[in-house]
Amino acid sequence: MKILVTGGAGFIGSAVVRQAVAEGHSVVNLDALTYAACLANVASVADNPLYAFEQADICDRAAVDRILAQHAPDAIMHLAAESHVDRSIDGPGTFIQTNITGTYTLLEAARSYWDAQGKPDTFRFHHISTDEVYGSLGAEGQFTEDTPYDPRSPYSASKAASDHLVRAWAETYGLPVVLTNCSNNYGPYHFPEKLIPVVILNALHGKPIPVYGKGENVRDWLYVEDHADALLTVLTRGQLGRSYNIGGENEARNIDLVMMICALLDQHRPDAAPHADLITYVADRPGHDLRYAIDPTRISTELGWRPSVTLEEGLAQTVAWYLDNPDWWQPLLDRDGVGARLGKA
Ligand code: NAD
Repeated sequence: MKILVTGGAGFIGSAVVRQAVAEGHSVVNLDALTYAACLANVASVADNPLYAFEQADICDRAAVDRILAQHAPDAIMHLAAESHVDRSIDGPGTFIQTNITGTYTLLEAARSYWDAQGKPDTFRFHHISTDEVYGSLGAEGQFTEDTPYDPRSPYSASKAASDHLVRAWAETYGLPVVLTNCSNNYGPYHFPEKLIPVVILNALHGKPIPVYGKGENVRDWLYVEDHADALLTVLTRGQLGRSYNIGGENEARNIDLVMMICALLDQHRPDAAPHADLITYVADRPGHDLRYAIDPTRISTELGWRPSVTLEEGLAQTVAWYLDNPDWWQPLLDRDGVGARLGKA
């Protein structure tokens, strides 16, 4: 299969690109290379004849049209987005532009391309979204694919809008789509401003490890390589028009997650002071959702997919990867505003 992956220089997109090429798919990586992108994430496939890169903005219709016509993909996996909740609170404009207008532009380009091809029913537009569209849970319950949308941050509202657009293009124009909504990803190549890298990198630098509120917010953690596997499973075997929730079956309170990372760092650096001494509680994020949890029934029963690693295993691999790869993360800290944001998690 030839797959056009948008956002393939980002964290999850690059895992999809690496895995798709490893499985023998041809991949065209369309990415605007924003501050969050890193082509080093796909260096392992850069010279592979199955891989091509196109620098373009999904809001640029002419560029997207040209790339579709030139590469003639069998499917589009749409991951390009502005993805950092804190940045969406500080400046929502780019989230509206990329996540909503960009998705609309891509849908229109995909519809024209699919029309021009004679509307093959084998074509797939796979939209990758978040469980944050469902809002916040209390202590009980899990998100199913039928949970009503209740987004509460500019980021999640923009992703919810994009999900609605994709469903509308399926209903109105018959575009063959599948959608996925996943929980928090973690793993190698995670951009340094996100929670788990912030904890690891601040601890390595002896800086305070910031924890929002009392650290009681609960997230489900999905190892990024498991997620890439789930996405390719849904793309190739998912039922047309359907949404699938993807979770890691790994719920943890933020403070427990941070303590687990500190314990792993203590094992690697036994001579350093206990890393948990650096934990510092900071004012909570506005509108901070208390708990997200995924009911994995649909993807596990229909497609037989389940995560392969526990949080303990995935975190151990992730901490070891950051310790082994300072050449990857050090230059990213010097990018605009990124190092300064390490104070927040
Ligand atoms: P990321 O921020 O690491 O990467 C996003 C990529 O998209 C970057 O390479 C960036 O250059 C590119 N991009 C941004 N704007 C673009 C534009 N206008 N045109 C073309 N490319 C553009 O994001 P991620 O964490 O890999 O997330 C990928 C997708 O998964 C997003 O749609 C996100 O909403 C969704 N998601 C992420 C998580 C998570 O935990 N990271 C959880 C749920 C859903």
